[in-house]
Amino acid sequence: MTNFASRPAGHTHAIVVGGGIAGVCTALELQRRGAKVRLIDRWEPGHARAASSDYNRIIRAISGRDEFYTTWVRQARHRWLELQAETGQKLYYENGTVILATEGQCSWEDATSETFDKLGVPYHRFSPEEVALRFPQFKVPDISYALYEPESGMIMAHRAVVSIAQLFEREGGVIERGHVSTDNNEQLLLEDKTLEADIIVVCTGAWMGEMFPRTIKPIGFVQGINVLYTSTPDGDASFDHTQMPCWIDHGQHSFGLPSVEGSGVKAAVVIPETIDIENDERLIKRESLGKTRSYIEKRLPKLIGERIVDSKFNGIIITPDTHFILDWHPEHEHVLLAGGCSGHLFKHGPVFGDFAAGVAMREYGTADRFKIAGRRKLSPKESPSGR
Ligand SMILES: Cc1cc2nc3c(=O)[nH]c(=O)nc-3n(C[C@H](O)[C@H](O)[C@H](O)COP(=O)(O)OP(=O)(O)OC[C@H]3O[C@@H](n4cnc5c(N)ncnc54)[C@H](O)[C@@H]3O)c2cc1C
Repeated sequence: MTNFASRPAGHTHAIVVGGGIAGVCTALELQRRGAKVRLIDRWEPGHARAASSDYNRIIRAISGRDEFYTTWVRQARHRWLELQAETGQKLYYENGTVILATEGQCSWEDATSETFDKLGVPYHRFSPEEVALRFPQFKVPDISYALYEPESGMIMAHRAVVSIAQLFEREGGVIERGHVSTDNNEQLLLEDKTLEADIIVVCTGAWMGEMFPRTIKPIGFVQGINVLYTSTPDGDASFDHTQMPCWIDHGQHSFGLPSVEGSGVKAAVVIPETIDIENDERLIKRESLGKTRSYIEKRLPKLIGERIVDSKFNGIIITPDTHFILDWHPEHEHVLLAGGCSGHLFKHGPVFGDFAAGVAMREYGTADRFKIAGRRKLSPKESPSGR
């Protein structure tokens, strides 16, 4: 097996396929390790069909009993701050995240506080009365308690992808437009010719299953997620990020972010939905409009009557255990498959990209949890998402 790390800088030719958050971060980190890198995407990085689109994504360490992702997110927060300085762009708002622990269903939240105590992650535990005093935007008659993680918040997703792609180009990387396909042996092709490089890292998100029907499709279920943005009340700043945290509401299958840069309040009610990522329009269904409105009436009653001002619909790939995929293709030893987002990769982006680049350069092996083989469904107690 070739150890690319021992080659002189610039002698390793790497191709990264896919310019979502996984792809741009991996491309940047490969290049910083001395490889010559081409990033190929079907569309322009930042485009609206990718999962790495939309104004923002939550970054929070809250991961139940999972110490691995908790630690990664803590590292990622530093990396996002560094990227913010390097790009000169506002990428991170540290407005905190509150997790509402629904009465009778708190095992994941209980496990999170144990993990935080063990790893020294700062947090506060609030009673329902304290939540009502501190964050009067929320109505919380159904919770036992809430955990508040102050060193968390939101990453400006679209801006982050575009700025990291630009940073990669500024440091000498090449971005090309192209549709990479596979043949019957899952060999990679570009315009019907074999795609050639020392290393090829495939970061094609929810498209990965169709590209690798034998290797990835059996462990990659594609699901649609809707989000709706509701206008803040006229003349009222209490739903802005300066006064309101992001929130996770497991009991209501929901999560959300306050208004930032005028976006409106983002609320997602997760309704398991199929999506044909190739053909479906990125338009939300009426059903989700009704469900989100009733959720808002219940949880954020001061927004009753406010208008929906924006909406997004996009697809994610979910693995059985909700762990990412980062492993060599079983038949093509220079092809590394990197993704399997399971709805939580964005926040990890810079750490995932760094780790993926090290695996690609054969500096170390991948983590057991990211291997393609041996995936099994986890119970909500074991799963990092608690579902
Ligand atoms: C509504 C919603 C809310 C979310 N909220 C959060 C959150 O709060 N926090 C969080 O951490 N995560 C969140 N996520 C998940 C996160 O956004 C994803 O995990 C992450 O963006 C996945 O990135 P990716 O690079 O793997 O895939 P993508 O962003 O989908 O990128 C894949 C890229 O590959 C390209 N591509 C595909 N096929 C080919 C091909 N054949 N040839 C060339 N290029 C190709 C595509 O054009 C695309 O640019 C959310 C996701 C959604 C949809």
